[in-house]
Amino acid sequence: MGYLFDLHVHTNRYSPCSRIPPEQLVRQALRAGLDGLAITEHHRQWEEEELGALVNANGASRFTLLAGFEYSSSQGDLLIYGVPSDQVSSFIPGGPPQKAAEMARRLGGVCVAAHPTRAGLGFGERIHEIPLVGIEVVSVNLKEYEQRLALGLAKAIKVPPVACSDAHRLEDVGRYATEFQDPIRSMSDLQKALSRGRFRPADHALAVRGRV
Ligand SMILES: [Zn+2]
Ligand SMILES: [Zn+2]
Repeated sequence: MGYLFDLHVHTNRYSPCSRIPPEQLVRQALRAGLDGLAITEHHRQWEEEELGALVNANGASRFTLLAGFEYSSSQGDLLIYGVPSDQVSSFIPGGPPQKAAEMARRLGGVCVAAHPTRAGLGFGERIHEIPLVGIEVVSVNLKEYEQRLALGLAKAIKVPPVACSDAHRLEDVGRYATEFQDPIRSMSDLQKALSRGRFRPADHALAVRGRV
């Protein structure tokens, strides 16, 4: 069994659309069997101190709590990991996804396409031009046929699939997760693992089990 990680979670601290109280997040994640997760608020990234405080408050020193952010582009949403939090405000919402992904790369970050097939192919044909380390193929916000489409897309453009909860409700945390081959203890571990493709959607994550 690898290292179970949920790459896409929103809390009500900075995502008004989420009903998840941060105080209950870690406990729920542990209950769901996760080894770690990344909080990805919309256009906002938790500071290191905030993450540390939450882990300490739960006495969960073995749990890895990281933060990236979700960027809404003119064509689809990107999960961005590894950008310094004081740079997040320079990602102006609604810009071209290629531009945001290039900027993330310049700042040392990596990008995963979030729900790329929700309500049609958000990123369009030009998804090839976006430097992606992963494509979300399952989440609570992708219907089953959208999950199949996303998996097909991942194969077509040869970007490895990830499974995430995209939780906005406490009970959805960890409902889907990505299984990493190596332990993820830091953002740098996560970026390395993502860049090297050392992961796959966790079995329990797959509504389309057996097709990956
Ligand atoms: Zn949201
Ligand atoms: Zn999201």
